[in-house]
Amino acid sequence: MEKLKERLLEKVSYLPQSDIGQIKKALAFAQRAHHNQKRQSGKTFFVHPLGVAIFLASRKLDKTTLVAAILHDVIEDTKFSYENIKKEFGKEVGALVDGVTKLSEIEKRISWLPLPKKKKIRLSQKESQAESLRKMLVAMSKDIRVVLIKLADRLNNMKTLASLNDKDREKAIASETLEIYAPLAYRLGMGELKGTLEDLAFPYVYPKEYQELQSFAVPAIKKREKYLHQVEKVLRKKLKKEGIKAEINTRAKHWYSLLKKLEKYDHDLERIYDLVALRIIVPDTETCYRVLGLIHHFWRPLVGRIKDYIAVPKPNGYQSIHTTVFALKGEIVEIQVRTPQMHEKAENGIAAHWHYAENKKSVKLPKEQLAWIKEIGEINKQIRNPREFREDLKTEFFKDRIFTFTPKGDIKEFPLGATPLDFAYAIHSEIGDHCQGVKLNGKLVAFSRELQNGDVVEIIISKKTTPKLEWLDLVKTRNAREKIRHFLNKHRMI
Ligand code: MN
Repeated sequence: MEKLKERLLEKVSYLPQSDIGQIKKALAFAQRAHHNQKRQSGKTFFVHPLGVAIFLASRKLDKTTLVAAILHDVIEDTKFSYENIKKEFGKEVGALVDGVTKLSEIEKRISWLPLPKKKKIRLSQKESQAESLRKMLVAMSKDIRVVLIKLADRLNNMKTLASLNDKDREKAIASETLEIYAPLAYRLGMGELKGTLEDLAFPYVYPKEYQELQSFAVPAIKKREKYLHQVEKVLRKKLKKEGIKAEINTRAKHWYSLLKKLEKYDHDLERIYDLVALRIIVPDTETCYRVLGLIHHFWRPLVGRIKDYIAVPKPNGYQSIHTTVFALKGEIVEIQVRTPQMHEKAENGIAAHWHYAENKKSVKLPKEQLAWIKEIGEINKQIRNPREFREDLKTEFFKDRIFTFTPKGDIKEFPLGATPLDFAYAIHSEIGDHCQGVKLNGKLVAFSRELQNGDVVEIIISKKTTPKLEWLDLVKTRNAREKIRHFLNKHRMI
């Protein structure tokens, strides 16, 4: 533990001395607060917040984030409250710790088990639910730094997941990581974290596929690494001769993303040119282009595979030059060239932008990340009454969902307890407003009947039927409730 503390203090040397004082104060506070707690693995609890803080310090986050990371489990797990933290460390730190605690509360309500493969539920359906959850987590956080702490927290927990000794829970947590947190990291441009989270979760969620992939791909990766080291040597020599200072590294593709890519390419390893990536990192943009020219001078490039993401960055802000060439012995190799700053942003996204921002209050983000976060801002604005929102969170997002079908077989998803009127309004407000009767699996039923998983719902409409006040008591979704209210208001019935 003392070693971990030292490691953290080494990592934060980029901060001014006064900030380091605050970090030391937080360390002492958290250590005392958690003093006799143990993790499931039997280790002292305090190693967990330390691990979380070390991860964030490696990404050079600001002092406030680090202090909050050290304290992130204090409200949830010890006798100390938000007020205590605010008093000791100020409002900003208090708000971050409070935010992390709230996310943990939500987390406990989500039971994110992978859908059984037998059920005919379209993946896109689940994907959109996962996306809602991701947005929800960010929306609830208010400050994106809460999400960064949460992601680091999840990473640390994933590393010791096996010590839970409960296969079902392990699988649930791992699939939540795979479907909610890894894509969330990706959304925030944190490619490296996304890959690591996925690889930690992969064996728990798809143990068989993981085993198969390992035995299938490991020999090829080893062979490839050996070959690329030769390529690397040649490159090093040539660049040195030109007086170019470069850092060259090779890294095997993350397992889960390899699986995804193989599924796209008929399981043909030969077609995965970036099975092991070869990266050249040079001091500035100009040198990137010089290196590209040099490479093409001695190795012929593949037509159509030169991508200049420096001049035209990807929508998520990614910058780099990619080229694929016939290298030594005519083998095809993908090479990426970038500056250290581009590298840092590609790996750490939003965290890196934070670090490079002059003014921490107005961090400039790439368009795509910004658009996504803005969209969430819109959700926040729509929620006028925070209490009502929390209710909806409980009922609409975090309890069990049920899946029902239209007569055509489209899937509609509802919270538990939803009724045919919710279904009618989910299709269209006109259908809802004129809902006269309903057939469940071919049989007429009352409006009060709760929908069940797998129900086929058929709505009978009549122009003469219009919403009644009692309908408000029958519906479960906000959508239906709002539309009924809207109609009643318009016709002065309430
Ligand atoms: Mn934690």
